Amino acid sequence: MQYTPVIGLEIHVELNTKTKMFCSCSADYFGKEPNTHTCPVCLGLPGALPFANKEALEKCLMIGLALNCKISKDSYFERKNYFYPDLPKGYQISQYRKPLCIGGSLALHLGGGKLIRINRVHIEEDTGKLFHKKSKTLIDFNRSGVPLVEMVTEPDFKNVDEVVEFAKTFQQIVRDLGASNADMERGDLRLEANVSLREIQKDNLPDYRIELKNINSFRFMQHALEYEIERQRKLLEQGVPLYKETRGWSEEKKESYLQRSKEDAHDYRYFPEPDIPAISFNDSDIERIKAKTPELFSSKSKRLETEYGLTSETAKTLVKQGMAGYFEEAVKEGEGLDPKAIANAIVNKRQSTELSPGEFTGKLREVTGKQETSMGDLEIAVLSVIKHNEKAVGDYKNGKESVIQFLVGEIMRETKGKAVIDKVLKILLEKLND
Ligand SMILES: [Zn+2]
Repeated sequence: MQYTPVIGLEIHVELNTKTKMFCSCSADYFGKEPNTHTCPVCLGLPGALPFANKEALEKCLMIGLALNCKISKDSYFERKNYFYPDLPKGYQISQYRKPLCIGGSLALHLGGGKLIRINRVHIEEDTGKLFHKKSKTLIDFNRSGVPLVEMVTEPDFKNVDEVVEFAKTFQQIVRDLGASNADMERGDLRLEANVSLREIQKDNLPDYRIELKNINSFRFMQHALEYEIERQRKLLEQGVPLYKETRGWSEEKKESYLQRSKEDAHDYRYFPEPDIPAISFNDSDIERIKAKTPELFSSKSKRLETEYGLTSETAKTLVKQGMAGYFEEAVKEGEGLDPKAIANAIVNKRQSTELSPGEFTGKLREVTGKQETSMGDLEIAVLSVIKHNEKAVGDYKNGKESVIQFLVGEIMRETKGKAVIDKVLKILLEKLND
């Protein structure tokens, strides 16, 4: 029997708002003295009344819009009931039937721009944190009530690479939006995947799924998924039936382990939160939030490509270096100069960008015209660098494409930084692939 993986992804991301989701405690809790960022609301004391954080709702909405979701006009909070010591109220305020954002999508580069459907993006509160010390367990409620956005995809991923690309893109998006630091080591961003295997000739989804939890790096997620796909394949091939269960991942042992089987599945008894009014955003609110949404990394670099004719590489580097705004200023100031030359000068640090954009283009104007390395000289420089770096060239031919950066650097040095990087790259690749 042939199987193909069916994978869905759930990502929790903590928002970087000033205050918590339902009280005015500071949400900047990381590394702070335990239980110093608390009040009756986030400690779940009887009688305390929550109120919703507008900044958090708007950030959740921005994430939803960036993922092409529809914004619900009649969204509300619900209580998710379960008992665990890190949850002082005995329930978590979350969303279930009417999430704030529904039905979006995100295009991958892999699979020829494959679309991954987004089921929902909703907002909820984080729990406290447990620390196990010898025979004791300590609780820190500083994290209790910090705004958390949950994003759930449809089970559209067919392999691990697609999942990793999606998760990294999502991280970039929430950072671009200024909605979260999305630092996985600090636990700002947490991944959960559900995995099952479908018989290749069947269309319908498998009747079981395994949830993988406790994954705190992209690399661990890759390991966990690869392991889990193999584990399930072996069991199915032996005719062992699989059931819904939750498994954790041990990076140390490089294996997944059972956390919860279907027998102890929760019934969360969701019901509407009576203490918080329904959330209502009208069209003009949504337009206002759209207008103040920062440009995303991917759309910004795409725009630089099309507007100024930059290569995708150069455009991405400008955005990554935080120099896109500087570049656009310089283009405005440097009338008559080729935007590509300006971009290259910035990316290759051919001149100090401590100068104002106007001074920068002034200097650039002095230098170009006179000094751009001629094609003949450039070719000689490329050939000389290839000749003197046999090992790097060998590595490239064995598939290690990252050495290109190094070779380009050597050529720039050889030409004293006067060559145009696009041309260097073009000639270098031509010669290497000869
Ligand atoms: Zn509080």
